[in-house]
Amino acid sequence: IAAAAGNGAVAYAMPTVEPEDDIAQFAEYRRLKTMMQQMQMTGCPNPYFTVHEGIVRDMTVVGGKPYISFASYNYLGMSGHPRVTEAAAEAVKKYGTSVSASRLVSGEKPIHNELERAIAKWIGVDSSILMVGGHATNETTIGHLVGSGDLILHDSLSHNSIVQGALLSGARRRPFPHNDFEALDRMLTEMRSQYRRVLIVIEGVYSMDGDFSNVPEFVKVKRKHRAVLMVDEAHSFGTMGKTGRGMAEHFGMDARDVDIWMGTLSKSGASCGGYIAGSAALVELLKYTAPGFVFSVGMPPAQVAAALAAIQTLDDEPERVELLRKRSHLFLSLCRQAGLDTGDSEGTPVIPVITGNSMVALRLSNRLKGDGINVQPILYPAVDESAARLRFFITCEHSEEQIRFAVERTAKHLTDLGFCRTTEPKTPE
Ligand code: PMP
Repeated sequence: IAAAAGNGAVAYAMPTVEPEDDIAQFAEYRRLKTMMQQMQMTGCPNPYFTVHEGIVRDMTVVGGKPYISFASYNYLGMSGHPRVTEAAAEAVKKYGTSVSASRLVSGEKPIHNELERAIAKWIGVDSSILMVGGHATNETTIGHLVGSGDLILHDSLSHNSIVQGALLSGARRRPFPHNDFEALDRMLTEMRSQYRRVLIVIEGVYSMDGDFSNVPEFVKVKRKHRAVLMVDEAHSFGTMGKTGRGMAEHFGMDARDVDIWMGTLSKSGASCGGYIAGSAALVELLKYTAPGFVFSVGMPPAQVAAALAAIQTLDDEPERVELLRKRSHLFLSLCRQAGLDTGDSEGTPVIPVITGNSMVALRLSNRLKGDGINVQPILYPAVDESAARLRFFITCEHSEEQIRFAVERTAKHLTDLGFCRTTEPKTPE
């Protein structure tokens, strides 16, 4: 640079700038590298991007070896169910692998409408709309429905997609304390009059803690303050309620009392993509105006057919939901008997074992791997350091023996690692 400036200064060689060097200037990248170095220092292999070589149900195969799997949310064993696989294959034969256009223009297929009707009926509302990604569904719907002059109040433990949607919207965003509808009520009493519209966003089942929201109480608050209520059922669709119809069925409430039901098809739906379900007016509005729907390709045929077959199969095999509940209850009560800290998890298939230390969580998951058990550690910064954990996803396909073995090994390794339990062992329930 100095030479080119022609000012007689001594020229010096410019360092070669590799493309990644530009990224290395980002503080976020440096933080990531520091975190990875810390992980490396534990001597444990990188727990991310593990390659799973087949369908993950109760078991998975990694590096040619079988493991009991607690790391995927195939809660009802629908991914890999022969009926679901066949439906997806048939749809590909009939419609190809892509619909090759936005549905608004020429990407509409009969199965899109069939699945949308099935979802609306499953939940108990008028209508629904499919979108290509679960994350994108929250982002585009929240980002689009409200804007400047509006207020979004969301649970403090909301999923990233909800927060991203809120940021995109340009509305004022305030989290309220986790699951605390009374705090929400107080916030609205203070703030409601300053805003044109208010959107409240909660989740059915919380994906890190495995607790769930008291939806009817949130309905009361939203009515009192003339707000719109949105419930994300990513982890409650298929798992909550006697037959898996979600939070409305769980509470025996009229699903129409919630304005916007959102869900993903990547868990119990054995597919990918998301949906918004609610009134015909809401769905019509989104179908013609939501950017993530209008300006995005329609959901691929195989994905639509898989989700449709999963819902139909669940309709025919509701015992899967009951079995999932039994297995989840067994896992939770064994953990409690062993004195493991499962936080607020209750009545759902998401069960954390909180270690309160990322390195202990990492070592624990590595030791369990040695026993043939695959479970994901959730480390800082995904959660606060004091909330570092292993997160167990239970499926209806786990056997009692697999569950007993996993809890017994987890408790033993935690003791061996010198982990101080935060709860006293509880008597069997
Ligand atoms: N909402 C919640 C509560 C989630 O947990 C997730 C992802 N697990 C999403 C939305 C996004 O769904 P998807 O992974 O299907 O894009």
